[in-house]
Amino acid sequence: MAKYLVIGNWKMNGNLSRSEQLVEDILAQLPVLPTLEVAVCPPFTYLAPVAKRLRDTAVKLGAQNLCEHSAGAYTGEVAGPMLADFGTRFVLVGHSERRSLYGESSELVAAKVETALECVLTPVLCVGETLEEREAGKAEAVISSQLQPVLARIGSSAMKRVVIAYEPVWAIGTGKTASPQQAQDIHAFIRTSLQQADAWSDDHSRLLYGGSVKADNAAELFGQADIHGALVGGASLKAEDFVAICHAA
Ligand code: 13P
Repeated sequence: MAKYLVIGNWKMNGNLSRSEQLVEDILAQLPVLPTLEVAVCPPFTYLAPVAKRLRDTAVKLGAQNLCEHSAGAYTGEVAGPMLADFGTRFVLVGHSERRSLYGESSELVAAKVETALECVLTPVLCVGETLEEREAGKAEAVISSQLQPVLARIGSSAMKRVVIAYEPVWAIGTGKTASPQQAQDIHAFIRTSLQQADAWSDDHSRLLYGGSVKADNAAELFGQADIHGALVGGASLKAEDFVAICHAA
């Protein structure tokens, strides 16, 4: 099985000195764990200083988004090859905030996943349903509709190189975590769907849970059979909390 993976998504928080301090504190408190991979995703403007500090350490660098194009007249966008220049390893794609606040469709998300793979970045494809969709019994259908365009675009073999993060929208930043069983049920559904499409590898595929992951709920989530790590928002902004979550993996 692939290593557990814990990724901190700093979102649009902090400033230069706080970013540098956070990474310093994480490095000071996080022992190298043989069964765990850890990454942080600072805002674009702090990728360079964080990358510099992470060089030759076990903590990897991620970005929060990328453009679907690799270069050209796309004012304000950031291209995959630019991220790769800094030694970025992971890139979040289709985070629910990108989908809901910036209108990213699953087709656009699929194009971004493809571009990330072309740039040798590991895409972390975020999927998840709203509360309304869950209550209407549509959670699985929504997740399928988010996975399908990606699968159709990149193919089943490339899909095995994509990390998938299940982040129920109702659990993001709300303090309302999915119960371990709710998360496990959806993770099992995603695994089974990918297996049926020949898009799953027992050795490489990883499914992360995201949505109000905290030091005190991480161990139980990680104890579920199909949860291979976490995508952490708020709790990744404090080194002690983030490191405690890593320890639970
Ligand atoms: P919170 O951990 O703050 O709920 O955010 C989750 C998230 O969106 C990570 O990408």
